[in-house]
Amino acid sequence: MTRVIAVSTNKGGVLKTSITTNLAGVYSLEGKKVLIIDTDNQGNAALSFGLNPDNFDSTIYDVLVDGLPPNQAIVNAYENIDLMPCNDDMAFFEFDILTKINQYPQPFQLMRKHLEPILSNYDVVLIDTPPNLGLTQGNVLSFADHVLIPFQPESYSMRSLVKILKAIDDFKERFNQGLSVLGVVATLVDRRTYLHSQILQECRAYCINNGITLFDTIIPRTVRFASSVAMDGLPATLTDRNNPLIASYFELAKEMDADG
Ligand code: ADP
Ligand code: MG
Repeated sequence: MTRVIAVSTNKGGVLKTSITTNLAGVYSLEGKKVLIIDTDNQGNAALSFGLNPDNFDSTIYDVLVDGLPPNQAIVNAYENIDLMPCNDDMAFFEFDILTKINQYPQPFQLMRKHLEPILSNYDVVLIDTPPNLGLTQGNVLSFADHVLIPFQPESYSMRSLVKILKAIDDFKERFNQGLSVLGVVATLVDRRTYLHSQILQECRAYCINNGITLFDTIIPRTVRFASSVAMDGLPATLTDRNNPLIASYFELAKEMDADG
């Protein structure tokens, strides 16, 4: 069975793309066939593999809006890793769909309609998402089996977490009964910071009360890997450098597998 995992939250800069691409790296090393679907118009998933998102003639936009066969918008990014890229075209997705709504009677079901037929080509499908809860994220939540939620411990992070969990509940009820929260993963954590440990404690209590997994693995904040584009045009897990950050992605994947 193909696992479709969305990395979602309504915030930017919290490692959605880093987690998506680094997990793809882990799974590819395990010999799994991986598809990354980028749904964020910033196109950072392509950049993580050293590919320029603006150079693609066909992207997820063409698949969802014009019904282009999905295989025509998929490129091979690395051994075992295919990518359906996204670029600035996707900035018009919501406008295009909503202004021609009579042509799209089920606007939240476009991903399911067009992408379900290719799922069986892959072991794992990882979806990178935009930092908001618009029509794109709605399509993702109507399509994915599991949601992995990055949580950066900051003053207002709990509010965002509650919002995305509420959105997931709504979409589960209305469009996607199979949807489940895989878990919350704390990102960009500096364990020495009092605020971080305090907010993580609050997050842990909230998750326990609501029956949500907060993974033991945290993705630490590091200075070395803070450049916006991955090292050597590859996600860190596909480089052979041994360090705590890379190890954390392998641990996260292990915990995610254990959780089903
Ligand atoms: P999002 O997709 O949620 O917007 P990104 O994955 O693009 O977030 O990460 C945001 C920024 O943080 C990027 O510039 C990225 O290179 C940087 N970054 C990634 N991992 C780390 C880390 N462990 N510590 C510090 N910065 C990081
Ligand atoms: Mg991103």
